[in-house]
Amino acid sequence: MNQSDKKNLEFIQNSGINYFLQDSPRNWFEDNDKFIDSHNNKDLINKTTQIHKLINDIENHLTPLKKTAKKLVVYDGNLNAKLMFIGEAPGKDEDEHGLPFVGKAGQLLNKMLSAINLKREDVYITNVVNWRPPENRTPTDEEILEFLPFLQKQIDIVNPDYIFLLGNVAAKAVLSTPLSLGKLRGKWHQYQSLKLNKIIYTIASYHPAFLLRSPKFKKASWEDLQMLQKRINNEN
Ligand code: URA
Repeated sequence: MNQSDKKNLEFIQNSGINYFLQDSPRNWFEDNDKFIDSHNNKDLINKTTQIHKLINDIENHLTPLKKTAKKLVVYDGNLNAKLMFIGEAPGKDEDEHGLPFVGKAGQLLNKMLSAINLKREDVYITNVVNWRPPENRTPTDEEILEFLPFLQKQIDIVNPDYIFLLGNVAAKAVLSTPLSLGKLRGKWHQYQSLKLNKIIYTIASYHPAFLLRSPKFKKASWEDLQMLQKRINNEN
């Protein structure tokens, strides 16, 4: 068993799952084209130009958060991904590296992806707030609102079919609701951008950092990931 298989199994076992056998046989060799619009090079060039402009705009946006943070953190993954993961804000490791989800929570996110047969390169990963809040505090409502236009712009550029919201802050920002994850998780929500003429099917579930602190919620997180996988497999 190689290291990534072992980690995958560990994640499933830690999730308290004893029923991960699926209705239909899993094809380990299927490619992940259903997650990426991999044939559209022109689109990719266009998106790359747009995202670079956006990164520049965020960098030039004046905010107190910039004074205490080290590096701007915008995204990792694939601009042509059909699936977007949105977290809260960079932590210490992300602030050092300038990339989202590279610390302990990021390692768990990698395992969650691998449990549904995906890699970081198959998805687009970002946060609501792009600078690390001091002492890793939760972003305020004002900060969430301040950075929301940049997040909405990323959604418009990437144009995903599905969004997976990691934690309360992302759920609050994207679904505009004060409801807790206990109420929001386990079902599909719809996000509609004014710019994109389509509905983006959205799941709100637990943040990996929360799952590290409260492993008993991994079972629910795994159910949400399976709900996502099932829909994507059925629609493609
Ligand atoms: N937590 C987040 O919400 N985002 C990161 O990038 C890292 C930790």
